[in-house]
Amino acid sequence: MALQQQRGSPTTRSSVGSVTTLSNLLRMLYSRARDYPRNQPLLYAESFSPNTPEGACPRCHGLGRVYDVTERSMVPDDSLTIRERGVAAWPTAWHGQNLREILVTLGYDVDPPWRELPAKDRNWILFTEEQPVVPVYPGFNAQEVRRALERKMEPGYHGIFSSARRNVLHTFANTQGPLMKRRVSQYMVSSECPLCHGKRLRREALSVKFAGFDIAEISGFPLSRLAGILRPYAKGTAAAMTAHHPEKATVVQRITADMNARITVMPDLGLGYLSLDRGTPTLSSGELQRLRLATQVRSNLFGVVYVLDEPSRRAPSRRHRGAPGSARSIKELQEFAVCGGT
Ligand SMILES: [Zn+2]
Repeated sequence: MALQQQRGSPTTRSSVGSVTTLSNLLRMLYSRARDYPRNQPLLYAESFSPNTPEGACPRCHGLGRVYDVTERSMVPDDSLTIRERGVAAWPTAWHGQNLREILVTLGYDVDPPWRELPAKDRNWILFTEEQPVVPVYPGFNAQEVRRALERKMEPGYHGIFSSARRNVLHTFANTQGPLMKRRVSQYMVSSECPLCHGKRLRREALSVKFAGFDIAEISGFPLSRLAGILRPYAKGTAAAMTAHHPEKATVVQRITADMNARITVMPDLGLGYLSLDRGTPTLSSGELQRLRLATQVRSNLFGVVYVLDEPSRRAPSRRHRGAPGSARSIKELQEFAVCGGT
């Protein structure tokens, strides 16, 4: 089972913590072993994950950032008219034309430069939540449409208006197509979530501290620092532990010892600077490869030497098999990882 020199397909939410399963342990630690105020209800491990409904900040849905639109983001060039597609955020082709025809029926002038339209009209066109259904006379100019409406002429069809904001946000939330999502996202602006301040979790979860830190803070520390924080708990020497119930102290010790055993190999592989919240898509292929290696090592698949960057070579090679966990094997792994991992 050779490691492959490829990125695989990490999902956008995949992180150092999820790949190594350290985040699972950390959430367990926070739910079981926190120094929580007595009057607070018990929180389960899922409550500490921004990817679950129990944990996600209700404002940003666990993204840490909020997305919205502005006049500037949707109308990048306000010297253009509506007919010239000044409202760039609107759909292209037929649907865009349909929206323009609806505006003509509603009595809006689609020919002056956007910036010359009254503010009230610009606001309605961009931001209204109303969705009027109106008769559309395709190809008619403003005057012909007025006359047709007066004479109650049979329209070509009835169209439903939706504002540019509605279009962008609805498409962004509902489209299954990545290209469409990318197209509308260029008309959105993002800012830090005002509720969780980018920490992605509910307030209840963030109020739980371990060693004085909330789970978002501790997930942002380099692994080498995290190991230092956990060490006294893993050894059972942390002063705070004596205050715990003995059973709880045992749980804390087990979880932190397990975590530290997994983390220890990281600095050996030159990964001590990574944090749990680091997204795997931002890692180089070498870093990702070493990270996977570190995870495999801990998953008791040890005893097999992974040959990196040498696909033609027969791997695993029995000649290179070391005793599980031996210092020599770690060193070998390190050497292989270093030559393969840049
Ligand atoms: Zn939030």
